[in-house]
Amino acid sequence: MNEYVERQIVLRWAAPESLRDAYDVVIIGGGGHGLAIAYYLATRHGISKIAVLEQGYIGGGNSGRNTTVIRANYGIPEAVRFYQHSIELYQRLEEETGRWVMHQQKGLLWLAHSELGVRAERARAEVNTACGAKTTFVTPPEIADICPQLDLDGGGSWPVRGASYHAEGATARHDRVVWAYAEGAMQRGVHVCQRTPVVGLLREGDRVVGVETPAGCVHAGVVVAAAGGHVTTIANMAGLRLPIRTHPLQAFVTNHYQQQFDTIVASSDLLFYASQTARGEMLIGAEIDRQPSYAYRAGHRFVQHCAHRAMTLLPFLRDLRILRQWTGVCDMSPDYSPIMGETGIDGFLITTGWGTWGFKAIPAGGEQMARLIAEGETPALIAPFSLDRFARDRTLADRGSAGTH
Ligand SMILES: Cc1cc2nc3c(=O)[nH]c(=O)nc-3n(C[C@H](O)[C@H](O)[C@H](O)COP(=O)(O)OP(=O)(O)OC[C@H]3O[C@@H](n4cnc5c(N)ncnc54)[C@H](O)[C@@H]3O)c2cc1C
Repeated sequence: MNEYVERQIVLRWAAPESLRDAYDVVIIGGGGHGLAIAYYLATRHGISKIAVLEQGYIGGGNSGRNTTVIRANYGIPEAVRFYQHSIELYQRLEEETGRWVMHQQKGLLWLAHSELGVRAERARAEVNTACGAKTTFVTPPEIADICPQLDLDGGGSWPVRGASYHAEGATARHDRVVWAYAEGAMQRGVHVCQRTPVVGLLREGDRVVGVETPAGCVHAGVVVAAAGGHVTTIANMAGLRLPIRTHPLQAFVTNHYQQQFDTIVASSDLLFYASQTARGEMLIGAEIDRQPSYAYRAGHRFVQHCAHRAMTLLPFLRDLRILRQWTGVCDMSPDYSPIMGETGIDGFLITTGWGTWGFKAIPAGGEQMARLIAEGETPALIAPFSLDRFARDRTLADRGSAGTH
């Protein structure tokens, strides 16, 4: 990490006692999504009478715990278009914010180990191409050229039969993304208040008109819940039951690997994905814990299973050691797609269902939610992801693209 660049970021916090009585918008949650909404409201719509209330520290939720993969190689058109837009916003984010978020385009291999898998990856490439994402089907010799460290025999059990190759797959430093949005929003007058939990919602009739914090009540024209794995607690305060379950997701990094591992590799059959960090560590993630919970515990069983599967395809991992392991709690939706927009309760919006895939969506999710708040109409790009899709039987099933289930 470059300490010089690190010192350039200027975060001017609002103290809880300095909060105003009323704001145009109060955002619950100082993760990537909450801060990006504030940033785009201020930069695109001139709305800066905004408070972002964070119970801990910004980026302390999933936005600072993820494996930083950015991609748009989803399986359904609505998702591909949305995530492709987010990829493009990420590509311009450093220029836009003037902050180095360590964005790096690496390409992503999504491996197939069976005839069925090959068909699925061919279909993914077709859907992606039709919807504007750069994905092609590649054969085993081509895969060997892209990622020479892969054992194409898969340890004799999981032979690599092909893959979809998503050229614009990328990574970015997660906490720097959060800080860039926070700084940009604060520079335009947004109040970002840490250690300020929302403990209740203010109601007037059917309308949500503000929030309660230990430091007092704050009124708002619009309240947005961007609370990650804790969203159901906030929704309950509004009397709203969301189709969300919170599941822990773990990840780990190894010590430094000297060779260049330039690509992101994912196998949805073996349920793991790997990339190399700027420090040279191998960063590995896998499936969610099956049991819903809010537990941040990280366990040996996970590391053992996940490392075993990863070593099947990447045998060099055997020579590395695990340095750190951690957990986040993910807001999983039943169809593996996000939920953005209106809730049916006046004055109360949500951005949730980001599960194990929401880091890549921070720019587009923030930008589109800001448009909805400023213009009062749901933008076409996020209209399919509304909460009422479940009542209308218009779910957006895309489990095969989550890579973590
Ligand atoms: C291990 C792991 C790996 C992942 N890998 C990837 C990946 O490679 N690519 C990808 O796209 N996504 C990935 N994700 C998912 C991604 O991290 C999340 O979807 C994304 O960060 C969600 O952002 P958010 O702003 O909605 O939530 P968060 O970042 O969790 O922010 C929500 C914030 O709300 C705060 N909050 C909650 N309740 C309250 C309250 N009552 N009052 C005030 N504040 C409150 C929390 O403290 C938190 O800071 C991964 C997640 C994990 C855990």
